[in-house]
This record gives sequence, C-alpha cells and structure tokens, in this order.
Amino acid sequence: MNDKYEILNKTFGHSSFRDFQEDAVDTILNKNDLLTIIPTGGGKSLCYQLPALLLAGTAIVISPLIALMQDQVMALEEKNISAAMISSAQSSAQIDETINLMKSGELKLLYIAPERFSAYGFLDLLKTLNISFFVIDEAHCVSEWGHEFRADYRNLGLLKQNFPNTPVCAFTATATIKVQSDIVNALHIQNCNILRGITKRDNLKINIKKRIGNGRTQLINFLNNRENEIGIVYTFSRKEADTVASFLQEKNFKAKSYHAGLSTQIRDEVYKDFLYDRINIVVATIAFGMGIDKSNIRFVAHTSMPKTMENFYQEIGRAGRDGLSSDTLLLFTKADEIKRKAFIANDINIQYKDLLEEKLEYMYRFCISSNCRHQLIASYFNDTIKECEISCDNCTKGEVKQLNISTDAQKFLSALYRTNQSFGQTHIIDILRGSKVAKITQFSHQNLSVYSIGKDKSKNEWSAIVDRLLDVEALSIGEYKALKISNLGFEILKGKQSLFIDEDKIGNLPKDKAIKTKKVFENVNMDYFDKFKELRTGIANEQNVPAYIVFSDKVLIELSATLPKNKKEMLEVNGIGEVKYERYGEDFLNLSLDISNQ
Ligand code: ADP
Repeated sequence: MNDKYEILNKTFGHSSFRDFQEDAVDTILNKNDLLTIIPTGGGKSLCYQLPALLLAGTAIVISPLIALMQDQVMALEEKNISAAMISSAQSSAQIDETINLMKSGELKLLYIAPERFSAYGFLDLLKTLNISFFVIDEAHCVSEWGHEFRADYRNLGLLKQNFPNTPVCAFTATATIKVQSDIVNALHIQNCNILRGITKRDNLKINIKKRIGNGRTQLINFLNNRENEIGIVYTFSRKEADTVASFLQEKNFKAKSYHAGLSTQIRDEVYKDFLYDRINIVVATIAFGMGIDKSNIRFVAHTSMPKTMENFYQEIGRAGRDGLSSDTLLLFTKADEIKRKAFIANDINIQYKDLLEEKLEYMYRFCISSNCRHQLIASYFNDTIKECEISCDNCTKGEVKQLNISTDAQKFLSALYRTNQSFGQTHIIDILRGSKVAKITQFSHQNLSVYSIGKDKSKNEWSAIVDRLLDVEALSIGEYKALKISNLGFEILKGKQSLFIDEDKIGNLPKDKAIKTKKVFENVNMDYFDKFKELRTGIANEQNVPAYIVFSDKVLIELSATLPKNKKEMLEVNGIGEVKYERYGEDFLNLSLDISNQ
C-alpha cells in the first residue's frame, strides 16, 4: 500500500479527504514544515497519521496528556498501525522495548510528552534514530498569549535547532493571529505552510442563558430526555463539581465528579468509566477533558462562565467530534465575571493580568450579546463568517418581545456624562437608584439632577441595560473601569437612536423553558441502532477497548440507515475501511442481514 488515497480508504475507511487534509498530507510528504489550525473534529490526526505510514522512519508526536496519547495509540492499533508511547509511568524496560522497535524501523508513530526532551540524553538518542517528522499537537500551548501555556512546549523550538532538516508540524484547534505568529516564531518554522480553517463548528448548538438561582432547574431541563446520552458538565469549583454530581445521581443520571482534588486513582477510574460508557456524565472542573477524543459526547454544559473564549470553545468542542449534532448550554451571571476578576487581581503568580481581564471581559460580552454566537467566536479568532442562522440561541430565538429601553438608556448615559465619564457602572447605578453609600456623598452626587431618577428599576435590571449598551458598543470600558460614551452612545443620549432589548434579557427572567433542540437520533431506527450498539458493546468488552474505538455512533447510525447487504456496501460506510472490516465487518454484516431478513 503506497498511495495516499488507498491508505485513506483502506486503513482509515474514508472515501475522500476533508478540507485541508490533503494539503497537510502533501506538505509533510514534501518534507516541509506545517502549521494547521482547524476546529476540533476537523480531522487533524489523519493529517499526520497518514503520511507517517508513507514515510520511512518514525513520526514523533508531542502531546500534552498521557490519557490522550493512550487513546490515540489504542485507536491506531485498532487500525493495525504500529504506534507506541513513552511516558514517565512506564518502566525503563518498557521504554527500551519501544526504542528497539524504533531502531528496527517498524514503529510508525511514537507519542511523547514535551517534558521528555528535558530527560537527560533523550535528544541525543533521537539523533541516532530515523525520524520522519515531528508533530506538535495542541500547539497553542506554545504561546503565552493563548491559554494553557506550558513552558515545556515553549522549549520545543529546540526541535528545529537540533533537526534542521526534519519537518516540524504543529496542530491546534484555536489560535488568534497573534497566537499563530507566536507559535511560528517559538518553533522556528517561519517558512512553514500555514493551513488555517474557519473557526466554526456547525454541528454544535450554542445556548447561553442567565443563570437563575444555582441553575439546577435549568440544568435538569437541559438534561431532560438525555438519560442515555453522553456529556460533560463543567463547574466553577471542585466543591460544586461534587454537589452537582450528587444532585444528578439523585435524579438517576449516571454521573460522577472529576477534579484535581481527587486522588489520581479515582480520577483514572472516572476517566475510564466515562471512556467505556459505564457512566454517562462527568461533572468536572476544567481539570477534565483536554484532548479527550471520545467521539460520542452529545452535550457540554457550563454552570458558570469560563474565563476565556479559548476555554469555552475548547470545552464545548469536546462535544460532537463525530460530526453529529450536539448541544451546549452555558449558564452565567455578572457575578461570575466579578468572581473571576477578583481571582485574577488577587493571584500574585498570574502574569499578564491585563490580558486575562480583557479576555474575561470579551467572554462576558459574548454571553450578553444578542448577535450570532458562532460569528462572535469566529471574530474572536480573527475569522469572518456569516450568521449561523440555525445553530445558536440568538439566531433561532424567533419571536422574542423587544422592549424599548431608550429612555432608561438616556438616564444612564446622562448620569455618566454628568460625572465626566470617570466612574464604573456600579457607581452610576447607585446614583440612579438614589443610594446613600459613602462614595455618593464623597462626590456630592446626591445633588445631581439624575440622582434617584431610576429608582423604579432593580440593580439587575440596570445591569442588563448597561450590558445592552456595551453589546451595541454605545459604551466602552476605559481606564480604571470607567465607562466611556461612544458616538452611538451620544446619538442615543440625544434621542436620535432608539435602543431595544430582548424581553428575556431584562427584569424577572421568565420561567426557564426546556431548550428545544433537534435530537441526533430523531430519524434513526432506534431498534436497529440498539442492536448494532449491543453488538459493539460485546466486542468492545471482549477486546477491552472503549466502544467508540470499535465503531463510532456515526458508523452505527449509517449502518442502521443503510443496512448493508455485502462487503462492498459495508465498505461504503464512512469509517469502515478494509482493516476495520477484517476485524469486525462480518459480525456487523451478519447482523445487518439478520435485521433485513426479519
Ligand atoms: P480533530 O483532531 O481535528 O479534533 P479527529 O482527528 O479526531 O479531529 O477527527 C474527527 C472525526 O472525523 C473522527 O471521527 C474521524 O474519523 C473523522 N474523519 C477524519 N477525517 C475524515 C475524512 N476524510 N472523512 C470522513 N471522516 C473523517
């Protein structure tokens, strides 16, 4: 087998390349450096796994997490591809065995952690071996401007310095233009081919709601009818992860918590339970999930606002890697932003405080916005896309009553103007509501004509009005958090422009309705699907691998819909290649024939 299309078809079971994949494969085959930025689920692994099979020597894949490496090695072995990993958890005998495999030229892919390069003698050892190319997975970890920065990743510049003729290929799902150039410079791959996809995950439905109380009712509404679906719930703290997990268990969900406060043993257990479908929901802090490859995650919920857009996009990105429609829910309040800001301010170890605050503010603006969510995410990552129209709450909300808040907006802007645009929103709201706090008398603001003209509205309502003014950019946040009035703000102040707000964004929030989303399995014959699933579970248990490693849900859905009658038709199913067919094809074909004959 020496042709890329043949390998694509027979080993990976795909009929054609997706966007960027062929270009990436060719770049590597032509021995050039590469930076690929395509969204999660876009098919990055194939970009380097396929050329690894065509080139002599071993491709070294640098990956941030052991769990992720294990997963990848397992999936490759299922395809009869010779792959291994080296980790600090292994004995030196195991490591020697892997090195010998490399020396023999048999090993096609070797997964290692970036820290491995600090191990004495490792670099020298690599120099004696035949390396086809280097892959840096999750390459955004190289950049201090992104998120999840790791010093060990930054050191990977040493690869190009030590192996000037070996291609270095970096992959990530998220990189702003700034992060992109940081990666290129840090890795010394200035002449690399850059493949940059559009930041859009069509199959993810994004729903963002103000949290009511502790958000439990909203969470349960979201999880309604999802007892058999797989998902992740992200929480703010370890304690909350535990309490939400207990709450869900009481409601008969198969849920467990996962966070850094648990022992390694328990964390491993929970991770495996999730991977092998023994539980359906992991309730976790951000400690969970980096690089998780489980393809059948159908939902991701956040009980509070993540600290950056990168975090949010990566976390929701864990859903729907198989390309099937998946749902996400984010619950937030202004308090989330305040709490996170206080963390940043109080943590003396945090560098780049201004940058983090900026990211946090963008995240909040994103939550309160009435614009297309996918468009806002894309614009954060410097991409321009059209409105999604169907995949976010703002595009699909249909008829929501619009309230005219022009007069209230004028009151707010007027108070801001009369105080020389030198105060933040809390103080202006205090003036409007006639507060008697010391700061008011200190500045004699009780004497302003606008003092107490906004008594009829609660702090929350005023805060929603300010959110709306920020959202339409009638206001901006200046130095020391003082609000500044833009040209549009002055137009509103003078009554030349009106301002409206969605009814559900202000005042008493309506009782939370169950979010209506199109179910993935809506048009699938569930009897057939369940039969294929049962067969898959049996095989997975026998082989001791997670079910999705045998076949993804997507493959089972296609099998249920097409009921193939022979090998040829089986091979037409996306995700079934010759190798997988050899392993499991006949069992599934027999079942398909049984079902057809019933
Ligand atoms: P990423 O690493 O970019 O998140 P993966 O490499 O995990 O994405 O691939 C996501 C899914 O897309 C996998 O289920 C994979 O089998 C599938 N896939 C990859 N390439 C193709 C292709 N050319 N045609 C069809 N499916 C593909």
